[in-house]
Amino acid sequence: MSPKVLVINSGSSSIKYQLVEVDSGEALATGLVERIGQPVGAVRHDGPDGRTSLEQPVPDHEAGIATILELFATHGPKLDASELTAVGHRVVQGGDRFAGPALVDDAVEAAIDDLSTLAPLHNPPNLAGIRAARRAFPTLPHVVVFDTSFHSTLPPAAYTYAIDQEVASLYSIRRYGAHGTSHRYVSHRAAELLGKDPADVNVIVLHLGNGASATAVRGGVSVETSMGLTPLEGLVMGTRSGDIDPAVVFHLQRVAGMSTDELDDLLNRRSGMLGLSGSSDMRDVHDAVEAGDERARTALQVYYHRIRAYVGAYYAQLGRVDAIAFTAGIGENDDIVRINSLAGLERLGIAVDAERNEGRKKDECVISPDGSEVTVFVIPTNEELEIARQAVELVAQQG
Ligand code: AMP
Repeated sequence: MSPKVLVINSGSSSIKYQLVEVDSGEALATGLVERIGQPVGAVRHDGPDGRTSLEQPVPDHEAGIATILELFATHGPKLDASELTAVGHRVVQGGDRFAGPALVDDAVEAAIDDLSTLAPLHNPPNLAGIRAARRAFPTLPHVVVFDTSFHSTLPPAAYTYAIDQEVASLYSIRRYGAHGTSHRYVSHRAAELLGKDPADVNVIVLHLGNGASATAVRGGVSVETSMGLTPLEGLVMGTRSGDIDPAVVFHLQRVAGMSTDELDDLLNRRSGMLGLSGSSDMRDVHDAVEAGDERARTALQVYYHRIRAYVGAYYAQLGRVDAIAFTAGIGENDDIVRINSLAGLERLGIAVDAERNEGRKKDECVISPDGSEVTVFVIPTNEELEIARQAVELVAQQG
């Protein structure tokens, strides 16, 4: 029987879940519990009977997990602990303690809690989901897969910030990266699609969603990534600025009297495409450009410019690039962004074929012309499958 894993991605006010059949890679059910802690929560479950949508109060994560179990019991498929190999959990920050997935015990829970200082918005709700799920499935192994683990192979030259190293060491200041589960899945799929072993392939992955990051993968391992201590650094994102001169922060403190919280809000929630164009959603930005909005046009130029700069830098770090892979909401759906982000890089062997690139891509495909030195792919990401696979592998190793 193919192993099945319940994958849980627990955020501050939502829990996403998927029941994954690992061998086929199929999602047997997916769902989302939203607005946890608000007067009325929203629940969506896609199972064998189609979609079920409900509105009901979900006061906390414990209630969220209970709701998910009820949905499986009522609308299927059957979620019997005896048929599950594990429960897999996404955790954002594993610091330098977790270079791979970990079997949850009280010590691992405590470590995730300790790492909350580096990811105050993410690790606590991740942990709340883990605790509730452990109570719901006390006999099953629970495996945590960290967004940072894939980047644990970064060399010191890539992860070290050029600041006073005593301060850096005292406060654990370094680049940890993020989106690692997606970068691993997509880079390994790119190698498979080239018919090669990941160990023999160099790939640049462009994960372009509401959050966005680029990773250089050499021989199957991450050697450079654009997100840093937190997911604020790097590419221009939906609401995050990505790279800026850090002096902007103390300049605004001095001249505008902005507080730490105001600056956090400015750079994490009011910047990026939202700050540049007025909308964080790329579809709105394209609509605005069509309507002649100059601000939106410039916003896109800034977005492309940053991606090209990273592709060039990662090309230089890798020396040889076999593939570039686009993934996530924008990478998979937005042909305008794909073709413009890589425009003008022909001298690097990088080109996009306009016809192949056209439209949204639900399936993996090549968008570079035949015979290109660098194969450009669109590869839909599948973080849940990657988490489920890593969970099964770890359970088998422990077994
Ligand atoms: P993600 O964070 O991966 O779910 O990506 C979400 C983002 O993908 C949205 O904010 C949109 O900007 C973008 N997106 C989704 N669908 C499309 C589409 N059809 N065309 C352009 N952008 C899209």
